[in-house]
Amino acid sequence: MRAAHPNDGCNDPVEVAVIGGGLAGGLLALELAQLGLGVALIDGASSGTTPSHPCASHWSYGAIAPLAGGRWAQLQRRHGDLGWRRRCFRPIGPGAPLAGRFPLPCSRVDGGLLQHRLPQVLERLGVCQRFVRVARLQPPVGAGAPWRLQPSGGGEALEAWQVVLAAGPGCRALWPELPERLRVSWAGVLLLQPQGDGWPCGAAPAMRLPARFSRLALEARAPELRQEAWQVDPGLIPWGDRWLAGQISLVRPGLELGDPPDPALQERRLREALAPWLPPLAHWPGTFQQVPVSFCSDGQPLVGPVPGAPPGLWAFAGFSAAFTAVPGAAPALACAVHAAASLSSAPPG
Ligand SMILES: Cc1cc2nc3c(=O)[nH]c(=O)nc-3n(C[C@H](O)[C@H](O)[C@H](O)COP(=O)(O)OP(=O)(O)OC[C@H]3O[C@@H](n4cnc5c(N)ncnc54)[C@H](O)[C@@H]3O)c2cc1C
Repeated sequence: MRAAHPNDGCNDPVEVAVIGGGLAGGLLALELAQLGLGVALIDGASSGTTPSHPCASHWSYGAIAPLAGGRWAQLQRRHGDLGWRRRCFRPIGPGAPLAGRFPLPCSRVDGGLLQHRLPQVLERLGVCQRFVRVARLQPPVGAGAPWRLQPSGGGEALEAWQVVLAAGPGCRALWPELPERLRVSWAGVLLLQPQGDGWPCGAAPAMRLPARFSRLALEARAPELRQEAWQVDPGLIPWGDRWLAGQISLVRPGLELGDPPDPALQERRLREALAPWLPPLAHWPGTFQQVPVSFCSDGQPLVGPVPGAPPGLWAFAGFSAAFTAVPGAAPALACAVHAAASLSSAPPG
């Protein structure tokens, strides 16, 4: 294993290439770098050198299960503000206790802030960050050879001894033999515009979150679906200096991501489902955003070596409650990758 140094390794075989710079890939790269590994984090959400993140992690509610924010608190003590805050929310939707009259404690991460701060932390830790889409993954040809990651649009391939698929809905295109329980849905949210000084639920609206996330039941039904199905989990959360309302989830039969669903239809369905809980949202001005989201139909994320693949290929995807689960799962997977990297045939640098 070579000693890591700042921005080491985007040129020769890196010790670990993490594909996907959302929540999962970003926190995993952080843990790997802390173990002293040379890490390249590769994300194709933008072109050139500027990151832009129209991914699930960016548009997420970012809500964390009650009492599960401890790992985020630790991360922030160590690395500075990553957008995690203790909050109160009013539960809405079917099953809301006491009709949502009383706020409950929770915590959440502001996805926009996280996507701004995490790259700075990674840079300080010496992670090499590349903004390019990986078009093809080529397994090692012969013993002692690295994996090759071919960028889309041509250009030189990146070589790596260990590769982690943390590309969420983009994982299957890179390795089609991934287990069938890894699936994709399309999520839609409304980014709301203020009207004068006002917001839909008053000057300082309280955060609203679903009492129960119905998309989890929809995800569990995914393998049996014969036609597409959708659900709305009503919510209203602060998002930077604006508010986000959502969320509609659409799941199709099969494993393919396919084209985004008709945005006008999805927006209409979302607004109609929100109206009984948050009446102003039926017509409040806002722009509708859609992103693909990966999940596992059995509720257990795909974390570990990819079954049936040559050594050195790992998966880190399919989290249904990602903001709760990823901060704990990332150090565990990083340790396993570190152990494998120590044993791998990487020649000394
Ligand atoms: C509206 C909404 C509300 C949500 N609310 C919550 C919530 O309250 N709590 C919670 O825990 N979860 C919530 N989720 C789910 C959560 O946001 C996601 O599970 C999580 O963000 C997924 O993170 P990820 O890193 O696995 O994937 P992503 O965020 O999808 O990141 C994958 C990255 O991989 C990149 N990529 C893909 N293919 C390639 C390729 N070939 N080459 C290079 N890069 C590639 C993409 O550009 C992307 O940046 C919500 C999601 C949405 C959309």
